[in-house]
Amino acid sequence: MDDAGMSTAHTLLTTLGVPEAAFTGGTLRARSPIDGSTTGLVHAATPADVTAAVGRAHAAFLAWRNTPAPRRGELVRLFGAQLRTHKAALAALVTLEAGKVSSEGEGEVQEMIDICDFAVGLSRQLHGLTIASERPGHRMMEQWHPLGVVGVISAFNFPVAVWAWNAALALVCGDSVVWKPSEKTPLTALATQALFDAALRDFRAAGNEAPDDLSQLLNGLAPVGEALVDDARVALVSATGSTRMGRAVGPRVAARFGRCLLELGGNNAIIVAPTADLDLAVRGILFGAYGTAGQRCTTTRRVIAHASIHDELAARLERARASLQVGDPRTPGVLVGPLVDETAFNAMQAALDQARDQGGTVAGGARVPVGGHADAWYAAPALVRMPAQTVVVQHETFAPILYLLTYASLDEAIALQNGVPQGLSSAIFTNDLREAEAFLAASGSDCGIANVNIGTSGAEIGGAFGGEKETGGGRESGSDAWKNYMRRATNTVNYSRALPLAQGVKFDI
Ligand code: NAD
Repeated sequence: MDDAGMSTAHTLLTTLGVPEAAFTGGTLRARSPIDGSTTGLVHAATPADVTAAVGRAHAAFLAWRNTPAPRRGELVRLFGAQLRTHKAALAALVTLEAGKVSSEGEGEVQEMIDICDFAVGLSRQLHGLTIASERPGHRMMEQWHPLGVVGVISAFNFPVAVWAWNAALALVCGDSVVWKPSEKTPLTALATQALFDAALRDFRAAGNEAPDDLSQLLNGLAPVGEALVDDARVALVSATGSTRMGRAVGPRVAARFGRCLLELGGNNAIIVAPTADLDLAVRGILFGAYGTAGQRCTTTRRVIAHASIHDELAARLERARASLQVGDPRTPGVLVGPLVDETAFNAMQAALDQARDQGGTVAGGARVPVGGHADAWYAAPALVRMPAQTVVVQHETFAPILYLLTYASLDEAIALQNGVPQGLSSAIFTNDLREAEAFLAASGSDCGIANVNIGTSGAEIGGAFGGEKETGGGRESGSDAWKNYMRRATNTVNYSRALPLAQGVKFDI
């Protein structure tokens, strides 16, 4: 056991209010990808624990749904205040456990704060429509009611923001939450739960009533998630992770007629058109492809460059790629941290081998030794020129690999962009208005996110986030994504003294 990793983690966890018993003496090993050290031994839940937790969450829901929504918003506001106070410590823990560079760790916590602010405003805007009735003396309207227990399953690469997107909305919508975080990031989950518990104490201390078990955490492996998925009392399962996971979860939730919100893998492309501002494009592509060591669902994996600028763009990307600093993500100047583990590194090497077999020319991709740590997996970002969109290019490899393709016409570029099973994020760099609009049109990008002159990653919380096809179809975060966390009731009120039937139907007795 590495004492340095352990003691850093313990100091941060203690600062964040996590009791020592929660991260010592358990069976789930927490590990830092920065140096491979053990950072904690966390207690793992069992499927039986899930059943009990969902029962408690359901009881909490029955009380919370009657709390006025703006009061529910006050709890989320207090949680946001906890996050503001503890931003630096939680961000440091995100960096330690997910391996993100420090500014990205801070960005992740900022995203949690942003969604809290958004949800607080939303708590006074959960409104339905009034609808003109065809019958005299009648009024139609719709109401949005709390839904029930929301089960959140999250991935390692956004270990806390994804939970916050779900929980902040679910809580103002009157739901309770049960969270199964990634088994690779149990410590950030413990810390987030401790901050939520502190907010709940503040809420009650200010004279508000809130049920126990409004938001619970269950660390553990996939079977813990499976138990959550199969429990009929979980009204909505919001699952973020690989398409493989979504393929298992989706049908199981559907089989019990539960609701599912799936946020799965991406294979995101940037089209670079002849009129593109190449300075902007290069910056957008580099952050998208190599930021977070290529471990974002919105990571740029493909560049589709017009033949007229392809070689210049390729040369500029290669120069920049080769100069990117790979290393300990806490070191100033480092832009590319570690891959999460050895499995991720091996998957990257396998993809690069396949790319070579399929006619690609690979630059970069080798292991980078950092600090002599045997179980830390750093890789040089890879730029791969491909002759065509071959099989390997159509898969999501969760690593810093950027495939470079070329095109002659915009129709061809859009067909390539859409010609993969995933449909999360996409972008075009162009200064031609007609091209930009064609890309955004119904016959353009088929993704949930389509951008012009900015890259594929780094979404703001104000927009609905999610994608089509194998990305799963879910939308969370901003816009009207809150409707996923509520149930709609259509109400017709008759204030006349007659009982006319719709569509002129007669039933006279
Ligand atoms: P993963 O699929 O391995 O694990 C995600 C979560 O699902 C974990 O908590 C895991 O324990 C759980 N899980 C796995 N199998 C399960 C099952 N059968 N039933 C219930 N739960 C199960 O993903 P990962 O490696 O942690 O994350 C990387 C993946 O997540 C990438 O594919 C990435 O694109 C995707 N991702 C998508 C989004 C998005 O919003 N679309 C955001 C972040 C990550």
